[in-house]
Amino acid sequence: MKAKVLDNLCIGCGACASLVPEEFDFNDDGYAYALNEQVKEENKELVEEAKGNCPTGAITVEE
Ligand code: SF4
Repeated sequence: MKAKVLDNLCIGCGACASLVPEEFDFNDDGYAYALNEQVKEENKELVEEAKGNCPTGAITVEE
C-alpha cells in the first residue's frame, strides 16, 4: 500500500500525523507528506482511517 498527500489540498491540520506518526510528517511549509514508500503492514488500517478523517480529502491510498 502506498499513501500520498496532495499538497494542494492539505491544510496542515495535523490530524494524520497525530493518528499515524510513523507514516505522516510535516514538511518545512507545514504540509503533511507520506514518510514511507510503502505503508507498513501494521499501519494500514490507521492510514485508511487517516484518509477518512482528513478534512480536505488530501490523502490518497493505492495498493
Ligand atoms: S489530515 Fe489532511 S489536511 Fe490534515 S495535515 Fe493530514 S493531509 Fe493535511
